[in-house]
Amino acid sequence: MGASFPSSTSRSERRGDGHIDERRGGVKVSISGLALDYVNPDTGVRHRAVEALDLDIAPNEFLCVLGPSGCGKSTLLSAIAGFLPASEGTMTMDGKAIEGPGAERGVVFQEYALLPWMNVLDNAALGLKLRGVPKQRRHDEARKFLAIANLYGVEHKFPHELSGGMKQRVAVARTLANAPEVMLMDEPFAAVDAQTRMVLQEELIRIVARTQVTVIFITHSVEEAIFLGDRVAVMTPGPGRIRSIVDVPGPKATRTWQSVNADPAFVALREQVLSLVRAPASSVATTSSAASTAATVA
Ligand code: ADP
Repeated sequence: MGASFPSSTSRSERRGDGHIDERRGGVKVSISGLALDYVNPDTGVRHRAVEALDLDIAPNEFLCVLGPSGCGKSTLLSAIAGFLPASEGTMTMDGKAIEGPGAERGVVFQEYALLPWMNVLDNAALGLKLRGVPKQRRHDEARKFLAIANLYGVEHKFPHELSGGMKQRVAVARTLANAPEVMLMDEPFAAVDAQTRMVLQEELIRIVARTQVTVIFITHSVEEAIFLGDRVAVMTPGPGRIRSIVDVPGPKATRTWQSVNADPAFVALREQVLSLVRAPASSVATTSSAASTAATVA
């Protein structure tokens, strides 16, 4: 079981400033010097939600962004989705500036965002429909991803007939059916009960392993972040910056809650990341393996 989290592995060849070394297969999404402001339309007063944020995400990486409530996680995700422009700095995907929403970036929100008048199959095929894909093809594609999301025999049901966990599986299937290169997930399991959440987390690992998708996953849960992530980017309290980036070592495809809960390395990593989240706002940003990150914080 200890094989899940070898405590001394450092597979990081990342530079010390939050950017990934190009030799590791390139950068999918690159964020540099990013500031994000909300401007009150009546008063013109600016509220800075994110500041001086540097972050690179590698192709096929599962990156969790972790931080306290209000630190700017959702704002950051909205900006990467193209819903919010940069006030300062740059955001690129495959080297091209992110200037608005695009099908190559799919979003899964906390609320399920299913259309109540459409059945499961049509909900799952919605993104493809909006892109003009013919009915038979979009239904075939949607069925494929409903199966990957462990949803069988429910395609003619309506959202109100589904549990919260099933609704969120449909939302994930819909996003993946649209073949995004990057899937942006904003606390997608926050609304389901704890037991269902653990099942969905385990399923998400397997689902993502069957696709080529890069994932940016927002959470305020330390356990969720290190269970799901290849890396965890810890943000400071708002206006959010990246405080530290932690590598989560070990193979992920076979990870289960039962195995990690019995793994001392997982428990130790949880303590390390928790202390990063709780560190004073003034702590310096670092990028390192889990073991050396803990040393940095202490
Ligand atoms: P998190 O996702 O980490 O909880 P948010 O990104 O939602 O944080 O919020 C970051 C900051 O931006 C908070 O201070 C919040 O009050 C503010 N904020 C969020 N959304 C808006 C908005 N639409 N207008 C103005 N301020 C906002």
